[in-house]
Amino acid sequence: MSETRGLVVVVEDERPIADLQRLYLTEAGFGVHVESDGAEGLAAIRRLRPVAVVLDVGLPSLDGIEICRRLRESGDWTPVVFVTARDDEVDRILGLELGADDYLTKPFSPRELVVRIKTILRRQHGDTSVPLAVGTITLDAVQRRVEASGRVVPLTSTEFDLLAKMMSSPGQVFTREQLLSSVWGQADYGLGRTVDVHIAQLRSKLGDDSPIVTSRGVGYSVARA
Ligand code: CA
Repeated sequence: MSETRGLVVVVEDERPIADLQRLYLTEAGFGVHVESDGAEGLAAIRRLRPVAVVLDVGLPSLDGIEICRRLRESGDWTPVVFVTARDDEVDRILGLELGADDYLTKPFSPRELVVRIKTILRRQHGDTSVPLAVGTITLDAVQRRVEASGRVVPLTSTEFDLLAKMMSSPGQVFTREQLLSSVWGQADYGLGRTVDVHIAQLRSKLGDDSPIVTSRGVGYSVARA
């Protein structure tokens, strides 16, 4: 796997709980961004494109349920784990069919939160035992090996993770922020150039076999075979 597991956005207005979540998620290898206000949390999720979101239900300005509802409405299916203070909130979450991936009731063990998030991400990434193939490129995630027209292409860990991310969904354009979030565990706009540099190296190593397509001003994708 890559150096980091990706960025998690935590929206939690109780500082001690947010601090614990940050601590455990960081130790588990995730990048963590914390917001304490609902509206700001929603904005951060949209801006940073995390791999997963942890939402407290009771929040200032916009509650967690409303944040999730708005994400789903706009077609954003980022995995969401709810943290609730009361059992009746659990009924509300499940009843609204918000596409919540899991929930925890306070008080909860931060260790358990980490386990839940890892499980969701593993499930989401599906079966990695089958090599991905696009055009003349095959990518074996287990052996971390890439071949182009039958020749082995030596890639750095970052180049490999970038290619794997794009090959997991051919035809889908990934923004620089999405690639940063998934490969580097952070989404700082200032690092957009970093993505460009790694993509350029990847293209040069893959040569004529490169399936990478630039969508000007948007990001990158791998062409459907
Ligand atoms: Ca709260």
